[in-house]
Amino acid sequence: MNGADLGLIGLAAMGQNLALNFARNGFRVCVYNRTADQTRAFLEQVREEALCAAYSLDDLARCLVRPRRILLMVRAGTAVDEVLEQLLPFLEKGDVVMDGGNSHFADTERRMQALAAEGIRFLGLGISGGTKGALLGPSLMPGGSPEAYAAVEEMLTRIAAVSDAGPCCAYMGRGGAGHFVKMVHNAIEYAFMQGIAEAYDGMRTGMGMSPEVAAEVFARWNEGALQAYLTELTARVLRYRDPETGEPLVERILDEAEQKGTGRWAAQSALELGVPAPTLTAAVTARTLSHFKAHRERLAALLPWPGPVPAAPEGFLADLEDGLNLTLLVAFSQGLWLFHEASRQYQYGTDRAEVLRIWRAGCIIRARWLPFLEEILREDPENPHLLFHPRFLEQIRQRLPGAIRARRWALEAGVPMPALGSALEYLQAMRRAWLPANLIQAQRDAFGAHTYRRIDRPGVFHTEWEETISPRPQGRSPWSV
Ligand code: NDP
Repeated sequence: MNGADLGLIGLAAMGQNLALNFARNGFRVCVYNRTADQTRAFLEQVREEALCAAYSLDDLARCLVRPRRILLMVRAGTAVDEVLEQLLPFLEKGDVVMDGGNSHFADTERRMQALAAEGIRFLGLGISGGTKGALLGPSLMPGGSPEAYAAVEEMLTRIAAVSDAGPCCAYMGRGGAGHFVKMVHNAIEYAFMQGIAEAYDGMRTGMGMSPEVAAEVFARWNEGALQAYLTELTARVLRYRDPETGEPLVERILDEAEQKGTGRWAAQSALELGVPAPTLTAAVTARTLSHFKAHRERLAALLPWPGPVPAAPEGFLADLEDGLNLTLLVAFSQGLWLFHEASRQYQYGTDRAEVLRIWRAGCIIRARWLPFLEEILREDPENPHLLFHPRFLEQIRQRLPGAIRARRWALEAGVPMPALGSALEYLQAMRRAWLPANLIQAQRDAFGAHTYRRIDRPGVFHTEWEETISPRPQGRSPWSV
């Protein structure tokens, strides 16, 4: 087939399903995969008229209408650089290349600049929704130059999920904005999943609930404020019985959580941008810690919890529900603050209300809270973290007592709830007009002459702290306590 609308490189699960999605939405797609057998097997299996195959990148480039539009769906990392290097000789000025993988936004910016020098327009395209979303309608987060986006907008919009607020695809901003947004999306996903896992631990350890009963609780929560893809998925997963043993499968799964990097990058970015995002970070750390299973087993024996696990207090399920809602609201708040700061420091120009809008359908963190958060941002676009908005604060306020009770039980029972705990600590610190950071400044100045500012007059000060220490009794070492 000549005159294909799109070239798609990389035919693993995501690439295959996206190719089908484009084809079923009226686009002619030429597919290519490094391993040719995979291409043959795919075409053989799907028998879709709008798809054709290329077995070299040269053929792929020849098959496409100009300017070419090419989507990479290869493994994130060096594979993207390798494919771009091999592809470049067959491209022409004005062609558009999109990277739909989970690439780091800084790599995307580097690639964008290198390709711009050759006249090639490059877009970083965040894609959420897993393999099913790729086939039926994902949430799409494209970023790069507005002109490059204009060349693919119709195509992307047509394959995206649709919510009652329109197609879940919008321009996320300049440079690596698309991949930055996807990275933070994944960090919120980690925090939501961790919060759910903590609630499950509360039900299991505090109430002795079986997975199937816990599934019913999540199913019920899914009818209220916590309605979300991940809540519904959790109910389904908890209900599932292992065909071999007849037991709930979840209880047979090793408790070591994997990660592919996006959550960690978001935590690193938060530190680099100077944005406090402890709940996003706590969820990454929880996954890392879970991997030390042998250490945990050893310490479980060396440091058993003193005393029995206290019984779950009355209303504990409602407290856990409040705790999870609060964790989720805080995770969104921290993610939105990251966008605000990244957009300012990296000049992305990201419209955060649009980000929330395109997360309403197709993506893994779609949740009932999103239209509410979007409404707040549209009313108050400069609010960095939503915390200044009375209606957002009201939702937090309503859930604080229950969340604190759940956390208190967890502390007394020796049950870790790092996502909920960090969300509460974050709120406590953010609502505190005074923090003991004055003492930290004094310490820094005393040992390192780092200077400090005063509350009673402007300027930068340094003190020779030794002189202010009152005389010591004779004969005692200055270091003795
Ligand atoms: P993988 O991440 O497993 O990548 C496999 C694909 O990459 C294969 O087509 C493989 O070709 C190709 N590939 C790997 N190395 C090279 C190389 N050096 N040169 C050329 N091709 C190479 O596939 P997925 O479909 O899971 O994901 C694709 C991208 O989408 C990834 O970046 C992933 O992070 C991202 N993503 C994945 C989601 C998911 O739910 N799986 C959701 C959203 C994004 P070959 O067959 O020859 O080995």
